[in-house]
Amino acid sequence: MRATVLRVRGNRLAFGAMIRVFCFLVVLAGVVAVAGCQPQNKSASTISTMKSNEPSPAAAAGNAPKVVKSDEEWRKTLTPEQYQVLRQAGTERPFGAVYEEFKKQGAGTYVCGGCGAELFSSKEKFDSHCGWPSFYDPANAKNVITRDDSSLGTTRTEVICAQCGGHLGHVFKGEGFPTPTDKRYCINGVSLKFVPAGETKAVKP
Ligand code: FE
Repeated sequence: MRATVLRVRGNRLAFGAMIRVFCFLVVLAGVVAVAGCQPQNKSASTISTMKSNEPSPAAAAGNAPKVVKSDEEWRKTLTPEQYQVLRQAGTERPFGAVYEEFKKQGAGTYVCGGCGAELFSSKEKFDSHCGWPSFYDPANAKNVITRDDSSLGTTRTEVICAQCGGHLGHVFKGEGFPTPTDKRYCINGVSLKFVPAGETKAVKP
C-alpha cells in the first residue's frame, strides 16, 4: 500500500516537472521568434513594433517622405511581412528563407521593397553571421537616413528609407568587423528587393 502511494506521488512529481519544462520551452521559443536585430555583443530582446497610429519613422525624424500612401494603400501593395517590417517597424525572424536567398545573391543593387529607391549594393554586403542581411555602408546615402531608437530600453540607431519612410533595420558601429567603416547595417531582408547587375527589374518582392 505504502509503495503504491509513493509510486503515485512520484508519478505526479515527474508529471509536474514535465509540465514546467514544457512551459519553459514554449516561452523560450516565443522569445527567440520575436528577437530583433541586436548589437553583436548584447543578448537578443523582444521585437519593437510601432503602433499604426504613430507618425512614420522618417516624418518623426524631421525628414518628410516623398512617397506617401495611406495605410490602406500600403497594406494593398506590400506583403503582410513587408508591411509589418516597413510600416510597423517590425523585425523578421533571423536566418529565415529571405536571408538564405540573400546569401546566394551575386552582384547587384538592393532597392526599397516599399518604393524602389536604391539603398544598398552587393559591393558593401558582408557576412556578419547575425542572421540578417548586413552591409557596411549604403550604396546611395541620400536614400538612407537614421534616427535614435530607444524602444528596447537601450539606444540603437534605426535605419529608414528616406523616400517612403519605411523601416529597414538598425546600424551598429564599432563591433570590430574588418570592413572599411566598421559599421553593420543590419537590414530586414523583406524590406529589400534585389536587382541583379545589368537588369532593371527586381527579381522578387
Ligand atoms: Fe522606400
